[in-house]
Amino acid sequence: MPGGVTTDVKTYSMLINGEWIASNSGKTFPVYDPSTEEVIAQVPEANSDDVNRAVAAAKAAFEEGPWATTTAQERGRVLFRLAEKVRQNLAMLAELECRNSGKPIVEAEFDINDVATCFEYYGGLATKVVGYVNPVPDNAMSLSLKEPMGIAGQIIPWNYPLMMAAWKLAPALAAGCTCVLKPAEQTPLTALELARWFDEVGLPKGVVNVVTGFGESCGSPLVRHPDVNKIAFTGSAAVGKIIVKEAADTVKRVTLELGGKSPNIFFADADFEAAIDGALFGVFINQGEVCSAGSRILVQKSIYSKFVEAMAEKAKKIKIGPPMERDTKMGALVSKEQYDRVVSYLEIGKKEAKVAAGGGRADNCAKGYYVQPTIFYNVDNNARIAREEIFGPVAAVIPFDDEKDALKIANDTPYGLAAAVWTRDIFKAMRAVKALRAGIVWVNHMQPTYVEAPWGGYKQSGFGRELGPWGIEEYLETKQVYINLNEAPIGWY
Ligand code: ADP
Ligand code: MG
Repeated sequence: MPGGVTTDVKTYSMLINGEWIASNSGKTFPVYDPSTEEVIAQVPEANSDDVNRAVAAAKAAFEEGPWATTTAQERGRVLFRLAEKVRQNLAMLAELECRNSGKPIVEAEFDINDVATCFEYYGGLATKVVGYVNPVPDNAMSLSLKEPMGIAGQIIPWNYPLMMAAWKLAPALAAGCTCVLKPAEQTPLTALELARWFDEVGLPKGVVNVVTGFGESCGSPLVRHPDVNKIAFTGSAAVGKIIVKEAADTVKRVTLELGGKSPNIFFADADFEAAIDGALFGVFINQGEVCSAGSRILVQKSIYSKFVEAMAEKAKKIKIGPPMERDTKMGALVSKEQYDRVVSYLEIGKKEAKVAAGGGRADNCAKGYYVQPTIFYNVDNNARIAREEIFGPVAAVIPFDDEKDALKIANDTPYGLAAAVWTRDIFKAMRAVKALRAGIVWVNHMQPTYVEAPWGGYKQSGFGRELGPWGIEEYLETKQVYINLNEAPIGWY
């Protein structure tokens, strides 16, 4: 990766067992501002030695530390205090997120607000975890109790850095688990800032450890560690598959959110202006670096040409520029690696389909990993740009004949994270809701996400659900308890 030299390079430590430390090897790696290509920080490069220490700390905190005997009320209050810290420091966190990820500042502010909301939600949910009395037929009492799963390894991506950390940490802590969090190597900074408040808000040492490092040398040892009970992962499908295999040896619980190639379906009767807006928003928000991006845009043939034209016209006016400017609607892609990946798909797309807008680097910015919002049309659903997740501002617009055709194309993908359908016909909308094989279906919108509602995929988009009560369930075990109410011997022998 290229990187200029700036005077403002901060060296971070990472948090293990309540201590701010360097990596065992002493190595660090650079973190960039993708809008300037400059190095903005150095962070410790953790390897398996560091992971072992972090897991040992999480284990001690789970088994012996005060966290093991903490009450749900106390855990809830810790999360409320953490949320408060995030709210008080929203501007600082949003700016850092913006600088490190390349996303527009206005979007970063929304993200950080969602981070606080997530901690608040699970702070409240901590005291609502309840068990059951099972109606067994004997003179006995049968209970099912909910208990924390134990030590959670949490591996997260770079597109919503702090929000992904909150989605992982909040339910785990509410459940009473302890955590080793590994942020993405591209974007570890906001998670490290968050960790500064752990002690002050009342998280005992070792309850949350943050290790910074790369996938193979830091993520993989966490997945393989025998003392880690659960891995929660959000990231690429390729790495998700490795994680399932590596977690199998120690029979870990695993939840995976692996993105997709989500269809955004437009019927001819949809409100046209709203539809154009929704198609652009669905695929270009956050530079298209969204696991639920509506990257396959299915449009009914009777409105197809008009639709592509209107989309292209509006896409060309999207303001691309420095992420810190408040009217920027599209910032830089997160890294050189991601930029190269997206550009390579632009070249593939030019061979497979026609270009209606974009197709290359955004040349209004001299430096930085900027790509134009790109719209390919007359795309065949079997084309690579319609089958493979690109994770950038690239839309594949696919024509369809009728409802049956639309739903068939929509479901013809190995993925199943999300889908959206636009129509004014309630019957058609509800038939689509039923037919779509996806974990999230939006009607006449795409992307709204709420901490109260379940998030996760069908098919190769992963398994398990985050957010809402579903999210905490993934950090809980169920214990069956039998209490004999007969004092007499069993009387069998
Ligand atoms: P991308 O390729 O878009 O960066 P990844 O799936 O590689 O997406 O990254 C998501 C997260 O998974 C990051 O935190 C990354 O470090 C981590 N990761 C990558 N490879 C592995 C691996 N083999 N084992 C565990 N974690 C990994
Ligand atoms: Mg990778």
